[in-house]
Amino acid sequence: MKLNKYYDDLKDSYLFHTVAVKTAEYVKKNPDKRIIKLGIGDVTRPLPAACVEAMKNACDEQLTAGGFRGYGPYEGFDFLREAIAAYYARRKTRVGEHEIYVSDGAKSDIGNILDLFDRDNTVLVPDPVYPVYVDTNVMCGRKVIYAEADEKNGFLPMPDESISADLIYICSPNNPTGAAYTRKALGEWVKYAKEHNALILYDAAYEAFVTDGDLARSIYEIDGARECAIEFCSFSKNAGFTGERCGYCVLPDELTVNGKKLADMWLRRQSTRYNGTPYIIQRGAEAALTDEGQAQIKENLDYYKKNADMIGDCLDDLGIYYTGGVNSPYIWLKCPDNMGSWEFFDLLLNECQVVGTPGEGFGECGKGYFRLTSFNTHENTAEAAERIRARFGK
Ligand code: PLP
Repeated sequence: MKLNKYYDDLKDSYLFHTVAVKTAEYVKKNPDKRIIKLGIGDVTRPLPAACVEAMKNACDEQLTAGGFRGYGPYEGFDFLREAIAAYYARRKTRVGEHEIYVSDGAKSDIGNILDLFDRDNTVLVPDPVYPVYVDTNVMCGRKVIYAEADEKNGFLPMPDESISADLIYICSPNNPTGAAYTRKALGEWVKYAKEHNALILYDAAYEAFVTDGDLARSIYEIDGARECAIEFCSFSKNAGFTGERCGYCVLPDELTVNGKKLADMWLRRQSTRYNGTPYIIQRGAEAALTDEGQAQIKENLDYYKKNADMIGDCLDDLGIYYTGGVNSPYIWLKCPDNMGSWEFFDLLLNECQVVGTPGEGFGECGKGYFRLTSFNTHENTAEAAERIRARFGK
């Protein structure tokens, strides 16, 4: 028996483990100090009431012979696919309900979609970014190249003729940088993909955080994207379904490679390896897209935005460079005084008792940068900002 040798090529991610160990050691040595965690990557607000109500009703249905649901459709129940298509239509984006494939979350889809592609493809991944794109490709031995994101390009790399890639990942708004592409800039990527026969894998997990009118919430806002892009989306960061698990991807009719429709391959893949997202969860997700659900989601997102504003104001006052925070729950800052990410982590922990995430955990280009998140409470975020101001203010 032989093992998958490509697992040996994975870099161990000690990032969150090391953050937890260093924090625990500090707490042990300083039991009287109160730590504030601005490294939280999970949502913290309770679920929208409309979603909980819908899930309770769906549970009750299971008590009746008529309401009981067993295996559902592989591609998701029609009621949810229709609700998602309507969600796009409200934003004037054309996505057919039959083009939507419901799943247990964007992370699964992003990894699973790779089943459709030969190992002998080159993938382009932004650096820094959500580490799942790199690891899922390394696991199957695919060649990964990087699009470097830095201060010069505002952490939004653009295509150029030196790039030769078959699969292109775009995450907008980006985790960890919070930077988001305008429609115009995304148009350049679509043009590049079409000219070079490449496919864009577009991660829109944070689209609900976008407030600026010229930023894209879906790649299908761009002409031509239906021929060259798959979009991944999630109920995790808008409706807070990180524990419930529901997401979806969109494979438009026009998406074909050598005459093969990718949607057909995806359904074949899903029907072989996946038995559908639970009915109860899909009912909850449907409720997230109602007017009531959307209003409740807005309250939660506004809550996080207020936190992001507090952190942004603090960094503005201190003259520290950062991206994100406006159309994203993430704030990506340059460590002051040219400190390294871990050096800044230690300083923030020891002198401000604030915990964040060192940027290098998200890629080489993350060295010297740091991620703070808006997922703590108002009170804690305000206090953390005060402590940082007091430490770094002149
Ligand atoms: N995509 C990005 C960019 C993320 O940051 C995350 C989670 O942090 C996900 C996808 C995962 O989404 P889901 O919870 O739907 O699997």
